[in-house]
Amino acid sequence: MEEDYYKILGVEKSATADEIKRAYKKTAIKYHPDRNPGNKEAEDMFKKAAEAYDVLRDPDKRARYDQFGKAGVEGMGGMGGGFGAGGMDLNDIFTHFSDIFEGMGFGFGGMGGRSRQQTRQYRGGDMRLKVSLSLQEIATGVTKKFKVKKNVPCPDCHGSGAEGGAAPETCPTCHGSGYVVRTRQSVFGMMQVQDACPQCHGEGTVVKMPCHHCHGEGVVGGEEIIEVNIPAGVAEGMVINVPGKGHAGKHNGIAGDIQVLIEEVPSETFIRDGQDLIYNLLLTVPQAMLGDSVDVPTLDGKARISIKPGTQPGTTLRLRGKGLPAVRGYGYGTGDIIVNISVYIPEQPSDEERAALEAMKDSPRLKPTSAVREKIFKTFRSYFQ
Ligand SMILES: [Zn+2]
Ligand SMILES: [Zn+2]
Repeated sequence: MEEDYYKILGVEKSATADEIKRAYKKTAIKYHPDRNPGNKEAEDMFKKAAEAYDVLRDPDKRARYDQFGKAGVEGMGGMGGGFGAGGMDLNDIFTHFSDIFEGMGFGFGGMGGRSRQQTRQYRGGDMRLKVSLSLQEIATGVTKKFKVKKNVPCPDCHGSGAEGGAAPETCPTCHGSGYVVRTRQSVFGMMQVQDACPQCHGEGTVVKMPCHHCHGEGVVGGEEIIEVNIPAGVAEGMVINVPGKGHAGKHNGIAGDIQVLIEEVPSETFIRDGQDLIYNLLLTVPQAMLGDSVDVPTLDGKARISIKPGTQPGTTLRLRGKGLPAVRGYGYGTGDIIVNISVYIPEQPSDEERAALEAMKDSPRLKPTSAVREKIFKTFRSYFQ
């Protein structure tokens, strides 16, 4: 079971936006890397809190998280889930939440300057795909293959961008650090500012002889077949994030992600309600009056149900566990098929049938008693509550 975003921030599920912001600030101060140097656990907590806050501060993401868990917010942009296996960068957090960190007085975000200990790596762009799934595919989960056109590492230089795949050379301007220090006059006096190196744009390396095939970029247009495992139980509008399968990054940088948007093909048989599936069973008048045994379709075949004599239209029956599973274990087990009973009233009975019905018209046993009236009204009223 994944960790709960509310628990990470120590707030109630009903917390207001303001409470969430304050709780995040508190957590961020507690686990701030400047306060916990070299403490890996604190750093993890710091990252987790950022991920939690990124989702819970956005009403749209929060609503999806409440309903579907992390699976519901993956790939929606921002940090929620998108960073996957520990790929989140501290600098990203400080930049992303600069409104929180500004004025905290810590080294990182304090003066608005970022620590630039690392050289920059290019990151390839993300890609978006759409996939249409039937209810059957959603019920079991499915692997889909996509042929995607995207930037791939240049085969001639193996992604380095240098002719013949030569190793890139240390940048002469910044001596490989990726940044230059400038001295600037400000209202506080002389200040030293770090800037990305103008020659290598922060990479720390330069390509002297650009590869003729990719013109020094290290990437070229290509194609790849991608397999995406879609977990069971997904819903329309969910996004599955596939990390590292997007465009290749320049100069052997970091590959982007692919986000797969789920579309649900409406079923001809069922109406989906979360994990439950609603089926409308149309009985004949004799079936509803006398009872019967009938087949109801399920996602993987059919199920036989018995109709009790005197079954009212609007009655619902449940086939437990025949609905949809929870996405990645988040949610409440497997849903049900809910069978809604309706009764077909024929418009054109034969002369014989008409005569038989006319003969029964005033039969007292065919008229509801006041107790029956009350019971049926109660059921009817419950639809509106
Ligand atoms: Zn090349
Ligand atoms: Zn440089």
